[in-house]
Amino acid sequence: MRSPHWSLIQYRRSESDSTHLGVLFEDAVHALPASWPENAAQLLDEWRQWEAKLRNLDVHSLQTLTETELIAPLTYPRKIVCAGANYSDHVQEMGGTVPSVPSEPFFFLKPPSTTIVGTGSDILFPEGEGVKLDFEAELGVVIADRCQGIDAAHAMEHVAGYVVANDVSARGLFHRGDPMAPAFAWDWFAHKAFDGSCPIGPGIVPAWLVGEPQNLRITLAVNGQTKQDSSTSNLIAGIPELIAAASRHMTLEPGDLILTGTPAGVGMPRGEFLAPGDVISVEIEGLGRLENRVSLRNRSLAQL
Ligand code: MG
Repeated sequence: MRSPHWSLIQYRRSESDSTHLGVLFEDAVHALPASWPENAAQLLDEWRQWEAKLRNLDVHSLQTLTETELIAPLTYPRKIVCAGANYSDHVQEMGGTVPSVPSEPFFFLKPPSTTIVGTGSDILFPEGEGVKLDFEAELGVVIADRCQGIDAAHAMEHVAGYVVANDVSARGLFHRGDPMAPAFAWDWFAHKAFDGSCPIGPGIVPAWLVGEPQNLRITLAVNGQTKQDSSTSNLIAGIPELIAAASRHMTLEPGDLILTGTPAGVGMPRGEFLAPGDVISVEIEGLGRLENRVSLRNRSLAQL
């Protein structure tokens, strides 16, 4: 699968080190000059100022670093907006049918500060009975600026870049058998919002390096065995439509992350779920590979 030209990453040199913004290029971490922002959130807050510098960045001139640890390329975004039911083959495998006239995109939120982990970090197995942990390979869209009520024709102007994501889901905690009223039968909180349920990475690839974001192969493997293999060309609501729809409901802000939904192949329809020790690899053409192990070990939030 085609590798990224380069991507924006965050790294640290030791457990106690602070976050640094860098560039991943030819599988090596490169430092940005000291005049650049400390982290991705700061860069995105000043995106229009830094965009021109990024477009002219000579990655060959950057200093190569060794002994670094990648962390998530974006920590503490303000929002993670997730589209559900957005690939026709996934809707069918979950027992639904795709309407001939597209309906309004369906969204839910993940808490931004505690769900994001980077490549190489463990996904903690959530607490609870009958968790049924599942994976969802997704294309993530990083928003460049504050925008509200925008139309689809102009939506792509608000994209800073793209990232590989995994919308990890606890299927067994989703449906409650004893709701006090039908409206409370579906528990999105327990299903989608647990710590570590949003791995992203390895880096954010700037939008102008991606070409056609809706024509990228997207795959997911568990322990090396392919489970999902599709293309972002199969999205029901396209990236501009998702941005426009989300921005009708709420103001989007710099660094907000929109997950665009997952294709067919998740474990749920086969009754096949993740266990501690499983390694999940998600790859999107041109964006790189995100790899995480499911773990029972305890981690503090400081390690995210
Ligand atoms: Mg999803």
